[in-house]
Amino acid sequence: MLEIKNISKSYVTGTFTQKALDNFSLKFRREEFVSILGQSGSGKTTLLNIIGGLDKYDEGDLIINDKSTKSFKEKDWDAYRNNCIGFIFFCLYRHPCRGIFQNYNLITHISILENIEMGMTLSGVGSKEKREKALEALRKVGLEEHAHKKPNQLSGGQMQRVAIARALATDPDIILADEPTGALDSKTSQQIMKLIKEISKDKLVIMVTHNRQLAEEYSTRIVELKDGKLISDSNPIKKVEKDAETFSIRKTAMSFLTALKLSFNNIKTKKGRTALTAFASSIGIIGIALILSLSNGFKIEIDNFEKDSLSEAPIIISQQSMKLDEETILKMQDQHQSAEKYPDSKKVYVLDDVMESMTHTNVITKEYIDYIKKIDKKTVSGISYQKSTCLNIINQSKDGYNLVNNTIMGMSTWTLLPSKMNNKDSGVVENNYDILAGKIDESEPGLILQLDSRNQIYSSTLKQLGLSGEEVSFDDILNKELKVIPNDIYYNQHGEYFIPNTDYESLYNNEKSITIKVQAIIRGKKEKEVLTSTTGIAYTNALVDLVIKNNKDSAIVKAQQDKDYNILTKEPFDETSFTNTKETVLGYLGAESVPVAVYIYPNSFESKDSITTYLDKYNDGKEEKDEIRYVDMASMISALSGNIMDAITIVLIAFSSISLVVSSIMIGIITYISVLERTKEIGILRALGARKKDIKRVFNAETFIIGIFSGILGIAIARILIVPTNIIIENASQLSNVAKLNPIHAIILITVSVTLTILGGLIPASMASKKNPVEALRTE
Ligand code: ADP
Ligand code: MG
Repeated sequence: MLEIKNISKSYVTGTFTQKALDNFSLKFRREEFVSILGQSGSGKTTLLNIIGGLDKYDEGDLIINDKSTKSFKEKDWDAYRNNCIGFIFFCLYRHPCRGIFQNYNLITHISILENIEMGMTLSGVGSKEKREKALEALRKVGLEEHAHKKPNQLSGGQMQRVAIARALATDPDIILADEPTGALDSKTSQQIMKLIKEISKDKLVIMVTHNRQLAEEYSTRIVELKDGKLISDSNPIKKVEKDAETFSIRKTAMSFLTALKLSFNNIKTKKGRTALTAFASSIGIIGIALILSLSNGFKIEIDNFEKDSLSEAPIIISQQSMKLDEETILKMQDQHQSAEKYPDSKKVYVLDDVMESMTHTNVITKEYIDYIKKIDKKTVSGISYQKSTCLNIINQSKDGYNLVNNTIMGMSTWTLLPSKMNNKDSGVVENNYDILAGKIDESEPGLILQLDSRNQIYSSTLKQLGLSGEEVSFDDILNKELKVIPNDIYYNQHGEYFIPNTDYESLYNNEKSITIKVQAIIRGKKEKEVLTSTTGIAYTNALVDLVIKNNKDSAIVKAQQDKDYNILTKEPFDETSFTNTKETVLGYLGAESVPVAVYIYPNSFESKDSITTYLDKYNDGKEEKDEIRYVDMASMISALSGNIMDAITIVLIAFSSISLVVSSIMIGIITYISVLERTKEIGILRALGARKKDIKRVFNAETFIIGIFSGILGIAIARILIVPTNIIIENASQLSNVAKLNPIHAIILITVSVTLTILGGLIPASMASKKNPVEALRTE
């Protein structure tokens, strides 16, 4: 039972208000064929749209099943349109030049069958049932064989029949038709009218027409309108008449898959534009993918390089350790930069002594050395314990005799040769250096000359060996003799004090002096260049042992042990300094002493962690001043290089992201255009009962497709561009296959692309969903 009760509807255009329906009332029977006649502009279409739930009335009420629709929500109207109403909504256009023509309100990019199915698709009818019903409806209108054609492959009359079939397919209770024969010749008109008459047997059919003759011939009731008012009704309903049956309303919802399919079909009709759009919006993705694969590749490259070359860089424990981690460096920079430059104020500002807080004094004790000696031997390839013992070496050069090594602490070019853990393994030296001449024998006191990658050393280094010249042969170096002078002939006692002997020639020739030679000449291995680029002289541990053995019972050591002042400088000790404590002076003179520094050489990158863990464990529960801190050069270098890579990557990605933003805006514009283009489709879908949400879905599906497409396209193009990129890098740096796209990055980027395009399309999609269905249908 359908009843229109005192309905008024006005349209406002500018300042002009057009009353389309004026306090209009009308009842309909459950089954009848009502024709609505009236002049153009009398409000017929408005009436039909209100009955169909497409347009909202201003005043009055529409009664369905004895119930008011005043409380109808949006979704109730959608459901009502979907399964109560069958629209045969042809729009008539009166075009100024082309005369009257009709729009059949079919979605042009899907097949006829799919058009007919759409109403059922929206209400979630299963695909098999849907197909059967659609074919059945097509059979009724005699177009079965055209099922898979697109609407524009049919004639006007055929399209009309498709529209009828669509209205029939959902088996609605009410069929609404707006001038179904308006643009047809009389023969076709007759056929269509017969069809509608047929339908009206068990339905309520309300048809708007201009043609009084057709109305009288086919319909069971004629209603006439003028200026939005009822002026005649050929068969009004008396009060006593009552319909037993009621209309049923089922809720509708479009699945995302339907939305995807709909949009996919639509996109197929504009392949070129979609491809271009996708390509344009993929550019950002391409950029970021390339940057990520480059930085990813370089990181792997750097990691491997560091693993190869830095794995054996020693962990150093010395008397002073510097904490040079990121945190402290940042703190240092921050302090300087946060303050104003060239201030006018007449004040002095005080800085925190970051440097001081960064340095830590390690008191290396015998206990600590014992702890280190218990380290897991499997993790280290060598340990050297550096002592402050003075070697007192004299050379003979063309200019005479010279004292070479007076204090090890001050000789940065003299280093202790890392000793092997045991004789079987190849040690740190063998792993990192090529031995160019001679032979290293750790158990013998001796020197090792370390060249740089170009076989160069400084002239000062050469001079220490007592040699000179621009080029020196390996043999000259290996044959050169130097003398180690024992304390007892080097220091002369004068009462309480000792004075070094400066007659180097006699010391050199003294029979108690010990001859040492350069055992070997070594050069860092090519692949270990970072670690081994320094040049200088190394000495074996055996040399230090020998010196200590000779000197520990010497007169000067004995004398120093008894005195509480420095026996050489005659100054009192200063326990706060490193160089002038009793212990260091004794160590310097060759007494048994605790090492001043320990170098631990890990045997692999992996074992470094277990070594540092072991060293950290020593500090557990210790007070800060008793803690012993180490410096791990390798991890400092890799942390630094990793940070730099990260920073560069972030900056480049930020730049490329601009193009991502641009492309989302572009997608927004494209979607907006698509919304404009598909306005009619929006109207049709809404008339068929699609919810606002469903319309939003259609456009989100469209941007989703474009997003996926452009993401995949971007990744594919980036993957292709990686090939020439790698060739360029290989030519420039000899590194092959650097750029590598991480699959996880690829997936993330595609997700980003989808998200951004959907974001870009959100506003136009919601604009689409808010479109007034009546106006949407009106658009051409
Ligand atoms: P009919 O279908 O009988 O030709 P309509 O119901 O389409 O008449 O229109 C009734 C009146 O309302 C007409 O004067 C028309 O110009 C006006 N009208 C209809 N729709 C609109 C609209 N969307 N905006 C402004 N005026 C409208
Ligand atoms: Mg009309």
